[in-house]
Amino acid sequence: MRKLLLATRNQKKLLELRRLLQGLPLEVLGLEAFPTAPQVKETGQSFAENATLKATQVARHTGLWAVADDSGLEVDALDGAPGIYSARYAGPEATDQDNIQKLLRELEDVPPPRRTARFRAVLALANPKGQLVALFEGTVEGLITTSPKGQGGFGYDPVFQPLGHDRTFAQMSPQEKDALSHRARALKRLRTYLVRNLL
Ligand code: IMP
Repeated sequence: MRKLLLATRNQKKLLELRRLLQGLPLEVLGLEAFPTAPQVKETGQSFAENATLKATQVARHTGLWAVADDSGLEVDALDGAPGIYSARYAGPEATDQDNIQKLLRELEDVPPPRRTARFRAVLALANPKGQLVALFEGTVEGLITTSPKGQGGFGYDPVFQPLGHDRTFAQMSPQEKDALSHRARALKRLRTYLVRNLL
C-alpha cells in the first residue's frame, strides 16, 4: 500500500486525519483529488455501517485503499441522541451553531452532573476492490457545558468538555485535542494495524 485515500469532504476532519497519520510511509490523499467519486448517502443505522458504506464505495470507485470515518456525539440524557444524526440534528442544512443551540435547548433542564456525553468515531478501512478490511473505534467521555466556549475545532467542540478537563475542545490547541479525541484514538488503532499488516 503506497497511497491511502481519506474519504471525507470535511476539510477540518481531513486536516485532523492527515495530522494523525504523519510519519508513515504513505501518500495520504483527500477526496478533492477525485471530483467524480460518489457522494455516498449515509443510510446506515450505526457509525460502523455508515463508515463502511463510505470507505467501500470510494475504494471501489478509485481503485485505492480508502479510509472513511463516521462520528458523532452521544448524550446520555437524550438516550444517545444526536448519535448518527449529529451533523443534521437541527435539520438537513443545519450549521454547527444551529446544532449546538438545539442541543443546549434540549438540555436546558438537565443539571451539570447529568450532562454526560461521549464522542464516538468509527473508521472503516477498505481495500482497492471495495471490500471492508477492518473497523477501528475510539471514544472520549465528557460533559455538555451550559454555553459555548472557545473558537477552535468544529461541530460540537464549543460545548464538549472532556472528562478531567476544565476547558472545552474548542478552547484547546489542535495538539491537545489530538491527545484526547475519539478520532485520534480510533486513528491510533488504524495506524498500528497499518504498520503491522500493510506497510
Ligand atoms: P459525519 O461527518 O457524518 O461523521 O458527522 C459527524 C458530526 O458529528 C459532525 O458534523 C459534528 O457535528 C459531530 N462531530 C464528530 N466529531 C466531532 C468532533 O471532533 N468535534 C465536534 N463535533 C464532532
